[in-house]
Amino acid sequence: MKIMWTERRMSSMPGGVYTEHVCRHCGGSGEASCPRCGGTGTFETRERCYYCNGRGYVKCDACNGRGVVAD
Ligand SMILES: [Zn+2]
Ligand SMILES: [Zn+2]
Repeated sequence: MKIMWTERRMSSMPGGVYTEHVCRHCGGSGEASCPRCGGTGTFETRERCYYCNGRGYVKCDACNGRGVVAD
């Protein structure tokens, strides 16, 4: 399930309010396609991908899996 946010949203955090925007790398899902298996979760040998544990995706580095990044 991919969540697509197109608008900025406000977040209240200790110390103030700041804006966040959707991560451009993952489009807000917080997940990135696995670079080792290409997002399939398995290799051509049908072995399960050790890198993503067969899920086909890994945590997005750009937003640390949050799907949004602070301005
Ligand atoms: Zn993988
Ligand atoms: Zn991201």
